Amino acid sequence: MIYLDYAAPPPVSPAVLDEMDSISREIYANPSSLYTLGYLAKKLLHNSRLDLACSIGAETDEIVFTSGGTESNNLALFGVLRASRQKKHLIVGSTEHHSILLSARALEREGFALSVLPCDANGLYSPEALARAIRPDTALVSLEIANNETGVLQPIGEIGAITRARRIPLHCDAVAAFCHIPLDVRALKIDLLSVSAHKAGGPRGVGFLFVRNEIPIVPLFFGGSQERALRPGTENLPAIAGFAKALSCASLPASSAVRDRLEHLLRQKFPASRVNGAGAPRLPHILNITLPGVPAERLLPQLSAAGIYVSARAACAGGEKNPSHVLTAMGLSATQAGESLRFSTGFDNKLSDADETSNAIDYAVRKQICT
Ligand code: PMP
Repeated sequence: MIYLDYAAPPPVSPAVLDEMDSISREIYANPSSLYTLGYLAKKLLHNSRLDLACSIGAETDEIVFTSGGTESNNLALFGVLRASRQKKHLIVGSTEHHSILLSARALEREGFALSVLPCDANGLYSPEALARAIRPDTALVSLEIANNETGVLQPIGEIGAITRARRIPLHCDAVAAFCHIPLDVRALKIDLLSVSAHKAGGPRGVGFLFVRNEIPIVPLFFGGSQERALRPGTENLPAIAGFAKALSCASLPASSAVRDRLEHLLRQKFPASRVNGAGAPRLPHILNITLPGVPAERLLPQLSAAGIYVSARAACAGGEKNPSHVLTAMGLSATQAGESLRFSTGFDNKLSDADETSNAIDYAVRKQICT
């Protein structure tokens, strides 16, 4: 098997599984309990929070554990907008994950004003266009650090300088970027940041939202006082500790060598191909490429039969019939979007995987299996 879908997500390492298993068995007390095992659980929760906070340059009391990226994005948008008394305008990017775009649309139905920032043909947002889109009543700007389908990295440093100067909170979806590039929320002037464990070698169903102290935000759920009452509910300690453990496993970030080789080989074999986001800085492990005349939905089963696992788009949108909103925002037609593949490499891949994969695609196309 050749697994080239690490962005959807990578396998969980044995060290992380062992950590989660031993905590489930041994430190099963509630972190709020006032006896020794409870204190141990509380300490473990604190240490995990500290490791994760340090990984993005945050303070421990700025980390709110959630069930993952979708919840963190919802909490950031609904939480900040609902906390805002006078300002009612939200700006999001056109290539954002659906947990941003659909939250933004839901907020629009609640009466908030919404602007969707277009991107250029490389999938990049323009800081100048953002500056023009900001209004006196803008309450929040939400733009991704990196796109999960193309790997395109946004100019967040420049964007953060603009939003901080105008005193507008900046939220960034860092689900695709976390662990793959260094992130420092202070240097980048980010006010809220969403992260999900399973994209970083951790378990599913856990993540966090960084909320800079001083940023007004209200909860979506009500109940206990956990996570400073911003996200009540008994903490999922085995998952949180497994998430922190994943950081130290150093299986990520992947080197770009396998991705670069695959890109080179596919460009050679298919001169009419187009690498989406080629003109922008990109994450080291993602390649999104359009192969004209080769529908992905016919090629993927052929590759799967050969033991090569690749996706046509983000896994969470896999069941959708619509073309990728990311690629169409970059100017691709629905047909071109349907002829696009996303490869994402990881620590287990070898250079020979790139050769075998490009050969398998070449074979399928030559034999007209998939055209
Ligand atoms: N944002 C991005 C960029 C993502 O890729 C994903 C997961 N595909 C999410 C948010 C949602 O994260 P989760 O699956 O943890 O809810």
